[in-house]
Amino acid sequence: MIGEYERPAASPGGLRLHLNENTAGCSPRVLAALQELTGEDIAFYPDYAEVERETAAYLGVPRDHVVLINGLDEGIFVTTVAVARDTVTGHSPVRPEVIVPLPAFDMYGVTTRAVGGLLVEVMPEPGFGLPVNGLLAAITPRTRLVFITSPNNPTGVRVSLDDIDRVASALPPEALLLVDEAYHDFCGDTALPLISSRRNVIVGRTFAKGHGLAALRAGCLVAHSSTLARIRPIVPPYSLNVCAAAGLRAALADRSRLAWYVAQVDRSRTLIYELCVRLGLTCWRSGANFVLLRVGDRASEVVERLAARSIFIRNRSSEPGCEGCVRITAGVVEHTERCLAALEEILCAEP
Ligand SMILES: *Cc1c(COP(=O)(O)O)cnc(C)c1O
Repeated sequence: MIGEYERPAASPGGLRLHLNENTAGCSPRVLAALQELTGEDIAFYPDYAEVERETAAYLGVPRDHVVLINGLDEGIFVTTVAVARDTVTGHSPVRPEVIVPLPAFDMYGVTTRAVGGLLVEVMPEPGFGLPVNGLLAAITPRTRLVFITSPNNPTGVRVSLDDIDRVASALPPEALLLVDEAYHDFCGDTALPLISSRRNVIVGRTFAKGHGLAALRAGCLVAHSSTLARIRPIVPPYSLNVCAAAGLRAALADRSRLAWYVAQVDRSRTLIYELCVRLGLTCWRSGANFVLLRVGDRASEVVERLAARSIFIRNRSSEPGCEGCVRITAGVVEHTERCLAALEEILCAEP
C-alpha cells in the first residue's frame, strides 16, 4: 500500500495555522495580474520565456539553471521519478535507495514508495540538527537520492552549508541531493552557492509559503544545467499554468510585500518563543514560518480545543523525536496573538 499525502481539515473562516500557509494572502499585484489575462492567454498553451527569465534573475542564476514546476511537490515527484524509479530487471536487482532524515515532510516518503524506491529513514539527533553521521552511514552504492529540508519541517531547525556539502561529497556518482528550501524566505539560508561545484545538488523552492501562491501552484528546481538535463525529460511540458506564471511574475516583482511578511513572521516567532519561556515549554529556534513546541501529554487535547475555537494548529506528536509536540504557523502578528492567547488559556486551565 502506498500511503497518501495527509490533508488535514479546517473549517472555512477559521484561523489556519496548521499548513504553514501565508496568513496574509498573496500580493494584491498578483490578483491584478490575473485580472489582466485575456481569453487568448487562457486558450493558448503558455509561453514561459518571461517568467523563466525573471525567476532566474530573482534567484541570481543563469536561465538554464531553473525549471519551473507546478509547486515544489511536483519538483519532489519528478526528481524522484528521474533518479529513484525501480527499474530492476533481469539478473541485476539494484533497488534504488532514497535517504530521508527524520522528522521530515511527508511527500518524500509518499513519492519514493510510489516509484518503487526503498525509503531509508535516518533517526533524529537531540536538538534536531542535521544527523550528518547517520546520513553518511546510510549511504550505499545503491543510494540514488537524499532529501534535506533547510530549514527543516516540522522542526524549523536550520542546516549549515557545510553539513550539506559533506553529504553531497559522500554520494555515489549517480545520486542526487535535493535541498528543499520551501522556507528559504524566512531565514535566507540557501545551498545555491553549491550548485556549480557540486553537480549532484538540486535546490527546490516554492512560492507557496513566502509569496502566498499555495493555491496557484508555483515552484522551481535550481541546479547546474547538466544536472537539470536528467530532470527536464520528466517534467510535463506545460506544468505551470498561465495563471500561476502570471501570478508568479507579479509576486516576484513585489519585493516590499515579501519583506513586510517576513518581518511579520519574525515577530510572530518571537511571540511564540516568549510564550514558551513564560509557560516553561520546550521549543526549537525556527528559520521558517512556524515553530514546533512541546506541550506534552495534552497535545491532541490542545489541538482539539483550539479547533473548537476555529483555530487550527498541527499535532506532530507522532513524528520521531516530536512526542507531545504541536506546530504553529507564524504569520500575521495579529493571528499569532489570537492563537497564543487561546493556547495560554487552554494550557493554564485545569485539564
Ligand atoms: C510546503 C512544502 C512544500 C510544498 O510546496 P508546494 O510548492 O506547495 O508544492 C515542499 N516542501 C516542504 C518542506 C514544504 O513544507
